[in-house]
Amino acid sequence: MPGVKTLIPIAKPVLDQADADAAARAILSGWVTQGPEVAAFEREFAAAVGAPHACAVSSGTTALHAALLAVGVQPGDEVITASHSFIATANAIRYCGARPVFVDVHPDTYNMDPAIVDRAVGPKTRAILAVHQVGLPCDLDRMLEIARRRSVALVEDAACAIGSDVRVGGEWARVGRPHGDAACFSFHPRKLVTTGDGGMVTTRSADIDARVRALRHHGMSVSDLARHASDRVTFETYPTLGFNFRMTDVQAAIGRVQLSRLPAMQARRRALAARYGALLASIPGLGLPFVPDDARPNWQTYTVRLPEGRDQRTVMQAMLDAGVATRRGVMCAHREAAYPRSSWSCGADRSCDARSGPCPHLRHSEAAQDRTIAIPLFDAMTDDDVDRVARALETSLGVGGPER
Ligand SMILES: *Cc1c(COP(=O)(O)O)cnc(C)c1O
Repeated sequence: MPGVKTLIPIAKPVLDQADADAAARAILSGWVTQGPEVAAFEREFAAAVGAPHACAVSSGTTALHAALLAVGVQPGDEVITASHSFIATANAIRYCGARPVFVDVHPDTYNMDPAIVDRAVGPKTRAILAVHQVGLPCDLDRMLEIARRRSVALVEDAACAIGSDVRVGGEWARVGRPHGDAACFSFHPRKLVTTGDGGMVTTRSADIDARVRALRHHGMSVSDLARHASDRVTFETYPTLGFNFRMTDVQAAIGRVQLSRLPAMQARRRALAARYGALLASIPGLGLPFVPDDARPNWQTYTVRLPEGRDQRTVMQAMLDAGVATRRGVMCAHREAAYPRSSWSCGADRSCDARSGPCPHLRHSEAAQDRTIAIPLFDAMTDDDVDRVARALETSLGVGGPER
């Protein structure tokens, strides 16, 4: 049926009767906010990534905010990060009253370039916030070495990276094991595991874990669950200024079902990415995702770099006309009105003050936003869907002849 094609969306969460049953179980238990389901989800998540501690929160953004506070980020501090990331990364730094120091990404991996990170560390630097962009682990060996040598904290924005593996010190491990001081995950529906909204902070430090636990619950000294379970009258105290960053038990019950699907998701996504790789390799000038030897991505997103001279919007429109949804490359926070030049520093050159126009030190970040597109990749995708996307991309770029 020419012209009558269903749209292949960019992503689609896996949600079925098992998730609905889990939510119903939590609701009918009578305990709906942070309670036993959250505690069980935390234990299962910690086991899934190999972390000593996991603390559930209300979103990936609040995970970042709480983790940065827990490692000691304060007003006036600087935190080194990527502009080329979802805006929540940089926002979390500003919520702490600290200043983002943006470093460019490597043009192959789109992850922060460790050599520039090293140069960006200054006397006010409190932490490095390293992003595992679209689930591709960054160079953690180098980031850890820099953080250790310069005595700054390392927090990982692993929002997209659940199920990704990284080789650190010669050994493979899950992202979130953790390697830095804390790793932050998101359960937004655009990520592999979803709870509607939600997040998780993993850490090896009992101290950081305790701080995140207090911060998420108004800075309170005891949890609702502990008070409820106690046979002694318990008065709580509020030693620090906290927030309401709680996950609900309804969300956590869904998260437990979602987490049980992770091994199948990884296998399916790796197979889909391999199929794309084989089909797209012959398109002249098209840049396929680069995977370094020490990283195994979870393929949260499949991103291609368009051939030189191709207009992003034109290609994306042609794809949409062919029934395939795409998204432009990951944004750059420093190009948004919410990030006036006074709100951030350039990590490559502190005297750089490019007030208008592109920042010469973030040119790989800007190019990644302007010249890459994300194409559909989700668990329920069929091999035929992958073939259709590949053909649509070929046709949109004017190669490969008529549709077969
Ligand atoms: C999704 C995402 C976040 C924010 O997570 P939310 O759960 O939506 O708050 C932060 N950083 C990155 C890199 C993300 O992709």
